[in-house]
Amino acid sequence: MRLSRMLGVFVVLALLTGCKTTSMPAAAATESASGTCVFTSKPCDSGSPAYNPTAQQVELDNIYTLLAYAVVYKNWQAQGTTNPRGYNIGSVLVDPQNNVVCWAVNSVDVTSNGTQHGEVRLMTNYQSNTKTFNLKGYAVYTSLEPCAMCSGMMTMQALYKTIFGQRDPDFGDAIQRLELNSKASGGYCPYPRGVISVESQTPTAAAIDQAYCQYYNSTSTPSLTQWLTTPEAQALYAAANNQLAQYQVQYSANQPFLTAAQQFLTGVPSVYTPIPYTTNCN
Ligand SMILES: [Zn+2]
Repeated sequence: MRLSRMLGVFVVLALLTGCKTTSMPAAAATESASGTCVFTSKPCDSGSPAYNPTAQQVELDNIYTLLAYAVVYKNWQAQGTTNPRGYNIGSVLVDPQNNVVCWAVNSVDVTSNGTQHGEVRLMTNYQSNTKTFNLKGYAVYTSLEPCAMCSGMMTMQALYKTIFGQRDPDFGDAIQRLELNSKASGGYCPYPRGVISVESQTPTAAAIDQAYCQYYNSTSTPSLTQWLTTPEAQALYAAANNQLAQYQVQYSANQPFLTAAQQFLTGVPSVYTPIPYTTNCN
């Protein structure tokens, strides 16, 4: 028997015998009575930390939430739009020094690609353009609560926090579900790399939630993305856009960030832009 074949037989035997091979790290596994490898139980991660922002940080969070609404409003997709770009959902990325560095909007229709949510485009575009390996310390301000796909990407990229401007009673709470600790009842530990996920404290977020709730409760098969094309939703986004333009800071330290946010908005195009975005995301 040739040496290579002997090695192949040894590998197959080693795989069949499982944990009994000496190649398995002894500390990471134990054996059941039948000799089957059983992973040892490790303590659960604690999940994301509590978010207790200062009043100054709340104001900054509100400014960036208004910016996310304004980015969406800039390329608003009204009911009946021909050749639509996608849904009226968008987001901005803020770096660990509190500087806004990228924007993105949902583009599922124009790309014929259902993965092209705003947050996915935001993260992949920025990280590809800037060769940023992960998003530790970064924040995503998004107009709508992130779905499971976007939450998974945020989690795996070790994002610090996401602040959202509208609650989604159906596809929301994805990060909260990832971080649910059901270990004590035979379930699972929270998924590692917990991300802070909280709703914006802007009055606009509360107003949008109330308006959508009225529609949701009075409609047999409500669609959040359909509601986001209504004149009612558009008026709320127009108001948010005006609030950002006319914002008066309570904390003077936030003035440079407000000015930068307002200037950033002028660089966001009002038409569909394919990735890689060249404006403000380099
Ligand atoms: Zn999503």
